[in-house]
Amino acid sequence: MRDQLELLWELQKIDLSLKSMSEERDRYPKEVKKLDENQNIESERIQKDREKIELLEKERRRKEGHLNMEQEKIKRAEGRMFDVKTNKEYQALLSEIEGIKEANSREEEEILQVMDEIDELKKDLSKREKEMAITVERIEAEKRKIQERMAQGDAVWKQQVERREVLSKQIESKLIKLYNTLKEKRQGVGVVSVKQETCQGCFVHVPPQMFIEVQKNNSLIRCPNCNRILYWEGDGKTS
Ligand SMILES: [Zn+2]
Repeated sequence: MRDQLELLWELQKIDLSLKSMSEERDRYPKEVKKLDENQNIESERIQKDREKIELLEKERRRKEGHLNMEQEKIKRAEGRMFDVKTNKEYQALLSEIEGIKEANSREEEEILQVMDEIDELKKDLSKREKEMAITVERIEAEKRKIQERMAQGDAVWKQQVERREVLSKQIESKLIKLYNTLKEKRQGVGVVSVKQETCQGCFVHVPPQMFIEVQKNNSLIRCPNCNRILYWEGDGKTS
């Protein structure tokens, strides 16, 4: 019985390790997806900033084009100055020129404002692009790490599955059956160690006499509370 219990204990450890590996495997694609999403959000933000700058540049060019046209108008009006005959005509022309000049200076002011805005955005954008480059690098490294872990996991997985096969053949079928039933009902744990008179599966005390028997590891004893098969691992040591 002692051998059987030891084999079963090893089988349990393998099953728990396979279980956590398979949970990890399910988690990896989700982690990668999350990393990709973060990256996308950031690049979308950068793209929006670029579009905004482009729009402002367009506006600036439009305003500058308009300003040039208005300056031409002033030149033409000034040219007409020599042809005026009356003082009234002269005054009218003068006030027309003044009006355009005022409007132009307002437009110049607006152009400067747009340019300031563009400068600010560009500064912000370049900072973001630098941060983005760092983020992308970090994300890529993270993804590589995940892939490495998965590849390592595959090798360990294969090893453990093989070992599991061997163990399953060495353990009596009745015991295996019991173990499998318990495992299914008890969150993947069919055999459990006892420490300080406590079942490590349900953390309920086992009677002292039973504890003494469990420490011998030579009979099938089950926790009176959770029904799991009890195993003595040794004093305080976990391995
Ligand atoms: Zn228990």
